Amino acid sequence: MAFQQRKFRGRDNFSSGPRDMHKVTCSDCGAEAEVPFKPIEGRPVYCKECYRKHKNTE
Ligand SMILES: [Zn+2]
Repeated sequence: MAFQQRKFRGRDNFSSGPRDMHKVTCSDCGAEAEVPFKPIEGRPVYCKECYRKHKNTE
């Protein structure tokens, strides 16, 4: 039944919205940022801009 399928899809859409984001403090500029992965303790985490910066220099 097409009707039932549509209803189920709508519900699925609702629950699978935002990803599991983790709030971190950028090790470079100190800004608050969100990363889609779990930050590892002892390792620096960067906001989007600093990450790009470090990726270019390293
Ligand atoms: Zn930063």
